[in-house]
Amino acid sequence: MLCEVCGRQTTMLRVVSIEGSELNACPDCARFGVEKSPRPKRTTAEPVHVSEALEKREKRAQTFDVFQQAAEELVADFPQRIRKARERLNWTPEDLGKKINEKKSVILKLEAGQMRPDDALARKVERALGIRLKERPTQAAAPKAAAHRGLTLGDIVKLEKR
Ligand SMILES: [Zn+2]
Repeated sequence: MLCEVCGRQTTMLRVVSIEGSELNACPDCARFGVEKSPRPKRTTAEPVHVSEALEKREKRAQTFDVFQQAAEELVADFPQRIRKARERLNWTPEDLGKKINEKKSVILKLEAGQMRPDDALARKVERALGIRLKERPTQAAAPKAAAHRGLTLGDIVKLEKR
């Protein structure tokens, strides 16, 4: 069998409508068209399909979030967060300094709010103390994230065809 779209040999042809004309297409090309013979998909399996589609969508959204982390901002109360976490661990400023390869004076400046840590320093402190110093500003990120998670019926159909 030959695909009428790309001309390749294929073992599986699907009848799809591409820009108005019905063509026998291989699975690759079928994605570009609208599949004919729409079987009614009212089976018991449908909710599973939808939740799977949502799950995939959710995973993609999370991937997207990873790239968003560059936009994270230093929290305003970082001096308190550092000091509280350090004291909870019973570490002196010197102890914390040793853990992250910084001078005691750097720790003291951070805790006094006299110094803002750069990305690398903030990450080291976060990891050593198990706290978050950088967060995405919520009001700016929330509507964007919601828009990306919105799943339309069209999206579900697309995902099911994949
Ligand atoms: Zn093809």
